[in-house]
Amino acid sequence: SDENGKPPLTIRLCEPRGFCAGVDRAIQIVVLALKRYGAPVYVRHEIVHNKYVVDGLRDMGAVFVRDLDNIPDDGQPVVFSAHGVPKSVPAEAERREMLYLDATCPLVSKVHKQAVRHVRLGRRVLLIGHRGHPEVVGTMGQLPEGSVVLIETEEDVAAYDPADPAALGFVTQTTLSVDDTKGIIDALQRKFPLMEAPSSESICYATTNRQDAVKASAVGTDLFLIVGAPNSSNSRRLVEVAERAGSRRGLLVQGVADVRVGEIAPGSVLGMSAGASAPEVLTDEILAALRARFEVRIELVQTAIENENFPVMRSLRDVPLTAA
Ligand code: SF4
Repeated sequence: SDENGKPPLTIRLCEPRGFCAGVDRAIQIVVLALKRYGAPVYVRHEIVHNKYVVDGLRDMGAVFVRDLDNIPDDGQPVVFSAHGVPKSVPAEAERREMLYLDATCPLVSKVHKQAVRHVRLGRRVLLIGHRGHPEVVGTMGQLPEGSVVLIETEEDVAAYDPADPAALGFVTQTTLSVDDTKGIIDALQRKFPLMEAPSSESICYATTNRQDAVKASAVGTDLFLIVGAPNSSNSRRLVEVAERAGSRRGLLVQGVADVRVGEIAPGSVLGMSAGASAPEVLTDEILAALRARFEVRIELVQTAIENENFPVMRSLRDVPLTAA
C-alpha cells in the first residue's frame, strides 16, 4: 500500500488500441448524414459492432434496420455499415431510387476487388473467414453464388477437393487472428502449390497492430481486459491472442459494468486494450474505476504508430462536423 492506503496495481496499456480509421470514417458518415439530411438516417445493420456507438447514434436520430425492406420510401438516406454489403444491396437501393451512403471500409472494398479479380481470371475464390460475420456475407456477395468457398479452419482445407486445383485464389476477412490465418494459408499452399495468393493475407493494419501490442504485453499478466463487443470479431481475437501469448486470463468487457474491480488482487498486473470498434471513453471509465480502488501504475506498451485516416465521401465533405 502507498501512503493513501490504496493497494498497487500495474496496468500495461496497449497502443495502438481502440478505433481504427474505418470505424472512425463510418461513424463520421452517419453523423454528417444526420447534419446534412436531418433525421431519420437509416443504417443497415450495426454501423460498427459496438452498442455504445449504436445507442449514441440512435439518440442523434439514426434508425438501425436489418434490411432495406424495413425502410419506407421517405427520401431519407440509408448508410451501409463498415463491414461491407453484398452487391445485391446497392443494386436494390438503386432500383428503389434510394439515396445511399456506403460506409464500407476502404480496406474491405479492397478485398472485394481482389475476390472479383480472381474470378475474372478464371479462379475459384477461397475466402478465409468466419461464417455468418457480416464482412464474410458482404465479400461472398460480391460474386455469383458458388464462386466463393468459405474456409474457416485447417480441417476445411483438408476436406476441400476442388475440380481444378490449379485455378484457385484466396482472400481473407480483415479481422482474423494473424497466427491462425498463417496456419490456414500454409496448409492451403502445401495442398495447392499452384494457388494464387494476394500479395499477403488481407488482415488489416488495425487488426495486426492491435494483436502485436497485446502479444508484446501479455506475458506475466494476471488478467487481460479487452474492451469490445461480443459480436466484434477483432475484439474476440484479441482475447485469444492475450491468452496464447501468456496472460493468465483474457476477458472481453463491454464497459466498466463488466469489470469486477473487487475481485482483482492487490499487486496484480493487468493488460488492457480495446478492439477497433470500441470508443476510448469506455477504456477511460474502466481506468477511472481501477484508479478509485488502486494506486495504478501505467506501463504504456506501444508497438506501432498509426497515421491512417480515411476521408468520407465527397458529398459529405463540406458538412462542418461541429455545426449544431
Ligand atoms: Fe477497416 Fe480494419 Fe477497421 Fe475493419 S478493422 S474497419 S478493415 S481498418
